[in-house]
Parts: sequence; structure tokens; C-alpha cells
Amino acid sequence: MSYEPVMTCMANICCKYVNVLAIQLIYVSISSLIVFISLIGDQLLTIKRNAINAYIIALSDTLIHGFIGFFSWLLVYISKGHPVCEHIVLMESFICGLTASAIDLDHVLAARSFDLNDISHLPNRPFLHNTSLTLLISVSILATGLIRHNWMVHTYGWIFLTASLTHHLRDALRHGFWLYPFTTKPVPLWAYVLSLTAYPLVCSLLMDIVAKEWLERHSMSNHLNFKYKSVSGDVQEV
Ligand SMILES: [Zn+2]
Repeated sequence: MSYEPVMTCMANICCKYVNVLAIQLIYVSISSLIVFISLIGDQLLTIKRNAINAYIIALSDTLIHGFIGFFSWLLVYISKGHPVCEHIVLMESFICGLTASAIDLDHVLAARSFDLNDISHLPNRPFLHNTSLTLLISVSILATGLIRHNWMVHTYGWIFLTASLTHHLRDALRHGFWLYPFTTKPVPLWAYVLSLTAYPLVCSLLMDIVAKEWLERHSMSNHLNFKYKSVSGDVQEV
């Protein structure tokens, strides 16, 4: 009796187990790094500001939003065991980070000035910090991508959602969420850490559910056949 098939099967199971363990380890390590950098950033905001350090503190805060956006999107791929060195993955993560940082530009738009004193003394929170609005924008981009069969646009809907939610979540530690017409209380630290860690996993699952559901219905009703392999960019019309 040959033991070779049994050994091959056991080796495959071991390989899969090691792979899953490695993915979990990388996920936990990057999540911890995100939380650590975010908390360091919050400590920066408590430093007494003067004319010299005020711009550095503001810039660091915006860069930290970008850092969190970049790695949160990377974690969406990592949670699927998707290779993260691919050009498209890094490009999308960069766009997510850039969008997360760019949200703070609404302070400048609302103040109509680059003066930090004007920017930090606005009477109300600027429009891109309205979570109801950014959720609406995200859903609109997601739906447009699906209706127009444009997977790049659809993926950007998820990227925009990730960038805006991670940005608002961090701001909510100090000010709560602005869910127009309501404003919540500041988010407790434990809820912030839990949400930031769980978000990429939940986002990745939602992406798969929406894509598979929509593609199944779409191919049934319109006789179009799409092949869905994984997250962004892997949908093909055949
Ligand atoms: Zn902000």
C-alpha cells in the first residue's frame, strides 16, 4: 500500500494551515501598527501649539489619516490572502491613503484660508466630515459602478468608504460622529480600536457578498457572464 497520497494530502493541509496562520499574524501585526501610530498621533494633538509647531502637528495629523487609510485598504486584501505586492493593490492603497488625507482639505475650503488659526476655528465641522454625506457618496459610487459595469468605479466606492470611515472614526474619538442631523458622543477608545481592527475584514466580506449577489442576478437577467475571482480588478466579462 502506497502512503504517498496520504502524505501529499497531509502536506497540503499543513501548508494551508501555515498560510492561514501567516495571514492572521500579518493582519494582527498591521492592525496593531495602525492602532499604535493612531494613538501616537492623538498624543501629538495634545501638545501645546505655537506658531512653529502648529503646522507640523496639523500636517502629521493629516498624514496619520493617510497612513491609516493606506494600511486599512491593504488589510482588505491581506484578509483574503491576496498578494499585496501587486501594483494594483499598492496603487489602490495609495489612493485610499491619499483620499483619507484629502478629506481634511474641506477645512481649508470652509475657512477659505490657509491660516491655521482660521482653519482650526471654524464655527461648524466642514462638509466632508459629515458621515451621512460620505456614506451617501460611497453608495452612489458603488451603485454607479455596478449599473455601468465599471468595476474600477465600483472598487473606488469601497476605497472612498474606507478612507472616509477610517478618517471619521479617528476624529470621532475626540468629537463623536456627525451623522447629519445628529452628532454622537465621542467614541470610547475600546470601540475605536475594535472598529479599526475589524473594519477591513467586514469590508472585504461585504465586497464579496455584493459582487457575487449582483453578478449572479445580473448574469441571469441579462445573459451576461462575468467571472468573479476576488476583490477589485479581478472581474472579467467572458
Ligand atoms: Zn478630519
